[in-house]
Amino acid sequence: MNDFKAEPAALREAMAAAAARVFASGWYVLGQEVQAFERSWAERCGTRHCMGVANGMDAIELALRGLDIGPGDEVITTPMTAFATVLAIVRAGAVPVLADIDPDTALLDPDSVRRCLSSRTKAVLLVHLYGQVRDLRDWVELCRAAGVQLIEDCAQAHLARWDGQVAGSFGAAGAYSFYPTKNLGAIGDGGAVVTQSEELAQRVARLRNYGQSERYVHPELGMNSRLDEIQAALLSERLKWLEPFTERRRAIAARYDAGIDNPRVRSLAPARQPQAHVHHLYVVCCEARAELARHLGEHGIQTHIHYPVPAHRQVPFVSLRRDPRGLPHTEAHAAACLSLPCHPQLTDDQLEAVIAAINAFR
Ligand SMILES: *Cc1c(COP(=O)(O)O)cnc(C)c1O
Repeated sequence: MNDFKAEPAALREAMAAAAARVFASGWYVLGQEVQAFERSWAERCGTRHCMGVANGMDAIELALRGLDIGPGDEVITTPMTAFATVLAIVRAGAVPVLADIDPDTALLDPDSVRRCLSSRTKAVLLVHLYGQVRDLRDWVELCRAAGVQLIEDCAQAHLARWDGQVAGSFGAAGAYSFYPTKNLGAIGDGGAVVTQSEELAQRVARLRNYGQSERYVHPELGMNSRLDEIQAALLSERLKWLEPFTERRRAIAARYDAGIDNPRVRSLAPARQPQAHVHHLYVVCCEARAELARHLGEHGIQTHIHYPVPAHRQVPFVSLRRDPRGLPHTEAHAAACLSLPCHPQLTDDQLEAVIAAINAFR
């Protein structure tokens, strides 16, 4: 599913030099490398501000806390996501409410979100699942009309664009993860909050560092969620490769779309705009998923499932409020989805072997 050791030698050498640069500098947390990366990531996202933080889950929690969303407040999100999305809402002290997905894309269904709104709703946490952004103008309008904040979980959608505008720049805040397997990944944990708001940026910058406004002065209680210099320096090098790597992901996905030809295997709906999908994952649905995964495994092809147990089936979340009509599309997707190898180092031969194995599945 990933092959970091096959990355270009030029990238690996540049990363080694970047790490050596930090080691020689003698400054290891929240310094010039972090500032330089924050500047370039904000520029790429088209936002005025970027704050490097410790990971993607903290980025969501910090965005929520920075917007004063906490105890007594509800945040609507999807159960078809990484556990961290929903956990971050709880960590912020707020209450997650779970809406159902659109079966064609596995993205949040706006009608289901409307059914989940209440007088306590403060935000919609929109997850750009698998790397897809879609109908962002409509989401901005839905949230505006409902009087709630839009927050984007961009952990899988690095630089995906809708109408030319980048993920994370539509809502009040965007939360990015730089976990190693993400489209832009560190050599360890990392994350970022991006925003247009100067006020939110300053609040998040304070909250990530114990709530400290200036040295030894703490007007509020924050957390320790800082980005290391070494991760920032490595991210700056890896950022130079993000575009070609994303193009490779797109080419792989296009080949899967065209080449997979098996009535038992359904791909998700294609992106409506060419830049709107960065293919963090390529996901198919198959009613005989276990058999398909075993068949592929026998051909030496690894697969994963994103996600087999949706949030509302996780023990701490079983009693969370949800769409009054239930979550039938989430249930169906969780039972059938299978993620195929889709990463920049996948070779054409490997890609053709996956397609041939899928098409031979009976
Ligand atoms: C990876 C991921 C996160 C959490 O990011 P971490 O850096 O692992 O904390 C949150 N949401 C989604 C959709 C993710 O894929």
